[in-house]
Order: sequence, then structure tokens, then C-alpha cells
Amino acid sequence: MIMPDQSILERLNRLGWPTGKAFALLCGVFVSIFLALVLWLAVDQRLVLEGAERLQDKTVPSTLEHFRLARNIEQLRLEGERVLSGRSPVERQQAMFIVSLIASHPAMLADARASALAREVESFLTRSAREGLSEKNNSEWVTLTNRLSLLADDLSIEGVNLETEDLRHMTTTMLQSHIKLAVVLALVAVFVGSFLFLIHRHLIRPLQMMSQTLSELRFGQPPSPVEASAMLEIREVEAAIGQLQKVMLENEQARQRLEFLATTDSLTSMFNRRHFMTLAEEEIKRAHRYARPICVGMADLDFFKRINDSYGHAVGDVVLQSMTALFAKALRHSDWVCRYGGEEFAFVFPETTPIEAQHLAERLRHFAAENRIELSDGICLRITLSVGLADASAGSLDEALKRADEALYEAKSRGRNRVVMAAASDIGERIDEIQVPANERSLH
Ligand code: GH3
Ligand code: MG
Ligand code: MG
Repeated sequence: MIMPDQSILERLNRLGWPTGKAFALLCGVFVSIFLALVLWLAVDQRLVLEGAERLQDKTVPSTLEHFRLARNIEQLRLEGERVLSGRSPVERQQAMFIVSLIASHPAMLADARASALAREVESFLTRSAREGLSEKNNSEWVTLTNRLSLLADDLSIEGVNLETEDLRHMTTTMLQSHIKLAVVLALVAVFVGSFLFLIHRHLIRPLQMMSQTLSELRFGQPPSPVEASAMLEIREVEAAIGQLQKVMLENEQARQRLEFLATTDSLTSMFNRRHFMTLAEEEIKRAHRYARPICVGMADLDFFKRINDSYGHAVGDVVLQSMTALFAKALRHSDWVCRYGGEEFAFVFPETTPIEAQHLAERLRHFAAENRIELSDGICLRITLSVGLADASAGSLDEALKRADEALYEAKSRGRNRVVMAAASDIGERIDEIQVPANERSLH
């Protein structure tokens, strides 16, 4: 047969996550996301590195090439000036030679615009050297020098632009990389925070609660209800703790029931004789240790057999049960009473002198004599009791009870419904009787 708890547990287990699997999955997701983000950042780092390499290997040489070409063009213009206005034919020839060298330089030839202009300048200068400088040639030279200056400026600007473009591209990539890094760090922080929250919510907190529940169980406190965790293994442990709680509660109830049965009389619910003796021994030991007064007593219902004989055993039981309430009313909280056997009761009066015990017992006798026990068929009974007392501040419990029993016998023999105090054992066998009012003696 499937117990209800088992079926609930099985259903919960089917819904729950195995802890190892759940955390392995979370770790897997975290590692995957982390790797993807690292790759994302690595791509940017690669772009930055490539940009730096390109800057170093291509852009800077190319920029230098542009600057050099611009300088050559400027040199071409200066040499052209010397060809046209040199002081001596030798100087003009030297200048023409340098012009030819610059015009046929590989760097010059590599650039179409520079090459074309250099050729044009070279042929103009060759022609001017041959024909001489005229007005027309002069204006043509002015035009050529302007074009040379403009081309040199253009080449310088292009060189600078090449580098600026590359640097701008690298700066953009690095900025993006920084933003991505910030995003990655934020995501990692969120993920680590969530991970810690989940660990706290689904592992640490349930473990703390289980620990608290176990310590409550250990110290016998009422256990707090255990929450159902989302983690399968934890839930199983929680369910086991729940079962343990239940079993311990049942055991505790059974223990209390057994203790009650072992210490009380089933008819009257007063303490039984064995338990009373244990309590009385403790009280007497304490009184002897601290030299405190203490008394014991024995009480017996008078002519109780007549009640059984006249009304039946069941009514006798009712009378015995009525004594429980009567003793509760007449005695103090600190006093102990038990059903000693049959219709006899034993008492311990801690912190009580013989005089006080006599007053207390007299009060009890009076309450009993005044008590009306109403039966279901309208009959009302009264019953008296005789009490024997003994001082227990010295000697053993058994000895004190024996003397109280002798005093009770004395009370019976003197006519019942009375309290008799046994004299102290070292004084002798004298027994003191408390006088009972005459009108209370005629109850039976
Ligand atoms: P005395 O005044 O001398 O004490 O007279 P008594 O009749 O009270 O004493 P006795 O010893 O002659 O009778 C005690 C009776 O108590 C006998 C017994 O049947 C009865 N009795 C003992 N235990 C129980 C019980 O549990 N229930 C009932 N109904 N009667 C009980
Ligand atoms: Mg009796
Ligand atoms: Mg008796």
C-alpha cells in the first residue's frame, strides 16, 4: 500500500531538480557565456593588433613615402629654378642633371601624378634650356611651380590622412572593446550574483533550516515546519527530516502516555504509590540536607466497605475518584498525594511543621466531611476520612510512613473522622489527637 506521504514525496521528487545536475547546468551555462564573451573580446583585441601591425608595416612607410615624394617634388621645383636662373652654364647643367635624376627616380615613377608632372617639368626645362627663357616660358614655369607646390601639399596631406584614418579606426575598435569589457564584467557580476543567490536560496538556506529543525528536535523544542526545496536531494533530506519529526513527535507522545500510565493510578489519576515514593524520597532528602521541616500523612476512608456493599463497587469507584478533586482543593501546590492502595492515600507536606501539618490535615478532613458526592440516581453521599500524620524531618521515609500509619490506626480506633499526629520517634509511642467537634462525629 502506498502511504499518502510517500506519494507526495514521489510527486515532489518528480517535479524537483537533482542538485548536482542543476548546478552542473548552471556552471555549463556560465562557462559557455563566459567563453563566448571572452571570444567576443578576443576578436576586438585581434582587430586592434591587426590595426597596429598595419600601421607599423604599411601606413607609416606609405606616409613616409608620401612625404619623401613631396620633398622630391619640392626639390624638383628648386632645381628647375636653378636650371632657369643658374649663374653659370655648369651650374644649370648640373641642375638639369638632378632634374632628370629626380624625374626618373622609381619613387617618382611609382606615382602617376608625380611622374607625369615631373616629365612635363623635365621637358619644359629641356626646351627652355635650349630656347632660352621667354615671357611665355616664364608664365608656363610659374604655372608648373604652382602645380608642383600643390602636388607636394596634396601628397603630404594624403600621407597624414592615411595615418589619421588608421588611428581613428584603431581608436574606435578600442572604444568598442572597452564598452564590451564593461558589458562582460557587468554580465559576469550579474551571473555570479545570481549564482550566489541560487546557492543561498536552494542550498544554504534549506541546510540552515534543516540544521535548525534538527537542533530543535535534539533539544525537544516544537520543530518549525520544513519548507519544500526545489532541489531534489535537499527535498528528500527535508522529507526525511519531516518523517523524523513525525516519528519523534509520536515517540514523545507515546513516552508521555507511558510515563503517565507508569506514574498515575488509572482510577483516580493521582500519582501511584511507586512514583509517590520516589517524589517523597527526594523531598525528604532535600528537607534533611537543608534542615527544613517536613511531614507525611496517611488517610483512609471510613467505612468505605459499606458503600461498596450498599451501592455497588462502581459507586465506590466514583467516591474514590471524587477524592482527586477534593485533595486538589484542600492541599497546597507544594504538597504531594497518591493513592497508596485501596481507599488509602499517602501525603508529603514539604516545608511544613507538625502543627501546620495538623491544621492542613484537619482542613482536609473537614472538606471531606462537608463534601457531597452526588450520584446519577439522585442519591447524595458523604464520607469521612481518618488521617494519621508523622514528622519526617528526621529518620527515613518508610519509618515516617509507618508512624503515620500507626497514627491512622489510632484515629480509626478512637472513632474515625479525625486527625492524629504521631509523636516524634525519640519521644516514645505517645500519639497526639486533634479534637473533633462533637457535631462532626456522628457521620456514621
Ligand atoms: P475502615 O473505616 O475501618 O477503614 O472500614 P473500611 O470499610 O473502609 O475498610 P475495609 O478495609 O474493611 O474495606 C476497604 C474496602 O475498600 C474493601 C475493598 O473492597 C474496597 N476497595 C478497595 N479498593 C477498591 C476500589 O478500587 N474500588 C472500590 N469500589 N472499592 C475498593
Ligand atoms: Mg477504610
Ligand atoms: Mg483501608
